[in-house]
Amino acid sequence: MTDQGDCLFCKIVARKIPSAVVYETDQVFGFKDINPQAPVHVLFVTKKHITGVQEVRSASQGIIDSLVVGANQVARELKVLDSGYRIVINCNRDAGQSVDHLHAHLLGGRMMAWPPG
Ligand code: AMP
Ligand code: ZN
Repeated sequence: MTDQGDCLFCKIVARKIPSAVVYETDQVFGFKDINPQAPVHVLFVTKKHITGVQEVRSASQGIIDSLVVGANQVARELKVLDSGYRIVINCNRDAGQSVDHLHAHLLGGRMMAWPPG
């Protein structure tokens, strides 16, 4: 597991690595994905280092809400709230999690397939 010191998203939150920031609260940092998979592709990460959704337990209650609230706000701002959007949290390797710091993807602006690939 990545520790906080060499975690990419911790560095982005600390602004040691630049990103296209679109959302920020005390708990959450939102920025455009560097390799967008849809016209709207924004990542919402916890400011606190949490490895992934598998670590969310009662002690972290509210953390997922804070990511969803951010995604909904940006979905509205980027005009996909009504057309449709997807909020995705990949967990561990089979699901494609490549950064071990809790994050939700906001995807929108095109038709999406189901089930996901
Ligand atoms: P996941 O595969 O679910 O762990 O998502 C990680 C996401 O981080 C991928 O969609 C990457 O394109 C994205 N990503 C990686 N490095 C950066 C970066 N420096 N700035 C913005 N997004 C990034
Ligand atoms: Zn981190």
